Amino acid sequence: MSSSDLYPLLPERLLPWFSRNARELPWRRDHEPYHVWISEIMLQQTRVEAVKPYYIRFLSELPDISSLANAPEEQVFKLWEGLGYYSRARNLQRAARMIMDRFDGVFPNQMPEILSLPGIGPYTAGAIASICFELPEPAVDGNVLRVISRLLCLEDPVDAPSVRKEITESLRRIYPAGKCGTFTQSLMELGAIVCVPNGTPACSICPLADICKAFLENRTEQYPVRSEKKARREENLTVFLLRDQNDRIAVSQRPDHGLLAGLWELPHMDGLLNEQEALDAARDMGAAPVSLIRCMNRSHVFTHIIWHMRCYEMICESTDNLLFVNRDVLETRYSLPTAFRQFLET
Ligand code: SF4
Repeated sequence: MSSSDLYPLLPERLLPWFSRNARELPWRRDHEPYHVWISEIMLQQTRVEAVKPYYIRFLSELPDISSLANAPEEQVFKLWEGLGYYSRARNLQRAARMIMDRFDGVFPNQMPEILSLPGIGPYTAGAIASICFELPEPAVDGNVLRVISRLLCLEDPVDAPSVRKEITESLRRIYPAGKCGTFTQSLMELGAIVCVPNGTPACSICPLADICKAFLENRTEQYPVRSEKKARREENLTVFLLRDQNDRIAVSQRPDHGLLAGLWELPHMDGLLNEQEALDAARDMGAAPVSLIRCMNRSHVFTHIIWHMRCYEMICESTDNLLFVNRDVLETRYSLPTAFRQFLET
């Protein structure tokens, strides 16, 4: 069977399977665009189980577009803390403000307007358009690419924009009228729980097994094909966990552009310093260290960078040159990314 013969079989296979096997997830209780939008942004690069508590907490504090648009930025970051990729949180709020200004507070229901919102690309727009507004717009994420790649034994790398475009166009032609949202979710769900990314796909329970080329040719492990990734840039950092006698922690705010823009951080500098160099550097930055408690080595992986960090924990005398914050205030009001927070938790 050729690829063009296989695509039209997908709705009839996946829709009944999805109605029997869909997981119950908090964001599937309704088709409210705000709910679908928040969940889709949170689910990028993050596992479903990890997202659930974040989603519930976010909606309980910011239940609608207007509350998100009017929230202090720090509150949005705080609700996002631990999910990483903070630019997504910033874009959520920018988009909410744009919806209030340009669309009278109502989430737009056409693709060009949805795509005009900050932080919403073709995948998220497709998910919202199909799930919330029943438009025949595919939402092609990694799950969908993997399923199609195995189904068709695609030899081209699925991360190539041309391949994604071709898959999107082929799916758009077979979207079932009146079931667009369910079809989008069924494809994603198959990729998430049956045609899984890590480990062996569960072909024995897959509704596509009798038409899937990779399964029939016993080559599932060869797909999806991906292009070679560029290596991440590696950077060495010395981080300072400076505590005063009242166990307050020194923090500073990052610039409002670039990596982790606008968030809070522990003081740090480039390179891996030895103990004496670290004590000298702490004095240079305005601290008055009285003892060096310990040294911790950790790494943190971002999308394009890896930080290799050596953190020195020091007790300091209070000084006006640095901002010292109580731990509980730091916990509740300051957005400290995981890269730095991990040193407070060990
Ligand atoms: S048969 Fe196996 S490889 Fe093919 S789509 Fe189903 S789970 Fe994926």
